[in-house]
Amino acid sequence: MKVLVQKFGGTSVGNVDRIKAVAKRIAATKEYGNDLVIVVSAMGHTTDELTGLAQAISRNPPQREMDMLLATGEQVSIALLAMALSELGIHAVSMTGAQVGIVTESAHGRARILEVRTDRLINRLSEGQVVVVAGFQGTSLSSGGTAEITTLGRGGSDTTAVALAAALNASTCEIYTDVPGVLTTDPREVEGAKLMQEISCDEMLELASLGAAVLHPRAVEIARNYGVNIEVRSSLTNQNGTRLTSNSRRPIGREGLELGRPVDGLELVDSQAVIALSHVPDKPGVAAKLFEKLSIGGINVDLIIQSTHEGNSNDITFTVSENQLFNAQILCEELIEEIGGKLTTESGMSKLSIRGVGIMGRPGIAASLFDSISRAGINLRLIATSEVKVSCVIDAKLGSKAIRATAEAFELNDSQVLINPPSKDIEAPEVRGVALDRDQAQLSVISVPDLPGTAAALCSAMADAGVSLDAIVQSERQHDDGSRDISFTLKREDREKADLALIPLLAQWQGSSMKEGPAIARVSAVGAGMPSTPGTAARMFRALANAGINIAMIATSEIRTSCVVSEPDGVTALKAVHEGFHLSK
Ligand code: ASP
Ligand code: MG
Repeated sequence: MKVLVQKFGGTSVGNVDRIKAVAKRIAATKEYGNDLVIVVSAMGHTTDELTGLAQAISRNPPQREMDMLLATGEQVSIALLAMALSELGIHAVSMTGAQVGIVTESAHGRARILEVRTDRLINRLSEGQVVVVAGFQGTSLSSGGTAEITTLGRGGSDTTAVALAAALNASTCEIYTDVPGVLTTDPREVEGAKLMQEISCDEMLELASLGAAVLHPRAVEIARNYGVNIEVRSSLTNQNGTRLTSNSRRPIGREGLELGRPVDGLELVDSQAVIALSHVPDKPGVAAKLFEKLSIGGINVDLIIQSTHEGNSNDITFTVSENQLFNAQILCEELIEEIGGKLTTESGMSKLSIRGVGIMGRPGIAASLFDSISRAGINLRLIATSEVKVSCVIDAKLGSKAIRATAEAFELNDSQVLINPPSKDIEAPEVRGVALDRDQAQLSVISVPDLPGTAAALCSAMADAGVSLDAIVQSERQHDDGSRDISFTLKREDREKADLALIPLLAQWQGSSMKEGPAIARVSAVGAGMPSTPGTAARMFRALANAGINIAMIATSEIRTSCVVSEPDGVTALKAVHEGFHLSK
């Protein structure tokens, strides 16, 4: 028996006519003989309206009662849709999350799904019924043993749909929404934004600000973990949408369907070398020139990091595998002859990375990585962060020690630890999509001691204050006393919290000070084919240079390259990069 799961969002069931139209669409699909499970959201803005009612009564309503209230939204739409299906002569039955047996944690308002019981669904399906399930809700057992209604958090219907698809081993999970699918960039900013036919779950997660508007990241995580195929498409047309692919297929483990662990993999790559060009001119085109030269020379660059400095020079640091160090060094020396600057290299390094969807929006994760490494007495040479990955470069001699400390900190077992994984040749475009994050600010802490624990202390302080840091970059340049600067970007609205959190650290680090950077925006290009396509970073820097844009910071991860530019340049930069990778219509 092959099951198809279809999910219809709030707009798609926003009024009676829409509900009738959805019922017709379902009836047409039913004719192909599929077993259908339909998941729906609350009608239109119902969830917001219900939240408004609660707020009018209490500024801080009990979470249990909030779930009791919000869960009613979806109960309305499942009943109406089941009625509309009956009108069309389709046997349909609506079920709440509790009736299905969507078992969650007891955390009200943000419960994760532990288990989806499939027997009741399968019974209904085998009777030939279409089952209409309430999204966004589940059931947990309270300490008193009563079944409690829980909700999964805003946007949670996507999560319900993909979890049902995973549990039922469904062929596909179709997500019907009010946009045509996932676009290559934000269509409000770039006229030529194009519909993607396909994107991997990993890419979708790295394009957080672009992807999350279409599909809840938790749903993407479930799809990625259990190999569910998703198709996002418009409920208003018959056009094909975007297919989300994932390759890992694993059975649902005993820990629960939505894994509680924020980090699910650890990787160490050794034989790495760090190359640093310091005091190079701070003007458009320098990074482009450097990485074009390396690309033509056949050098495969991994991490790239650049941070800003006072004065008019920059430091650009990157890693290559050790066997390319010699050739890369010659090319860099040539460039320095031409433009000025200073070259330093260091071999015998390793790159250690953790990955997991739980890293997104949880500043404490990077902090505990840096903390466990520094507790083992290991200094961080470079740091690179992305939405779902944090990497650092350390002395290779301390690699196994770092692995042990990190695996322990995140409770990872041997199967989750990869040492020197073979590089995969993924058939995917070097850049799939480009996202712009605005309203960002940049802060630097000047003159922090170059000792194990500094980055950890900084990240922990921010994490405790609830501030998420994005690009975190340690300066290449050292002050006369050996101290370095650490710069990072954060949401502008978090500035005040960050300032407060820094006070005790500045007091502790003698001679350190805080420096506020200009308003900035971050442009990120993401593509699974990036690691196996030489020159991607160079092309991105060239596109920006040709548009006359100066790059303030660079931070890369495996499948993502981000450039920080000044805020007023943001949209121009987005357009230039989108155009530069020929993504426009
Ligand atoms: N109705 C819920 C919300 O508005 C869940 C959903 O639509 O996905 O957040
Ligand atoms: Mg939604």
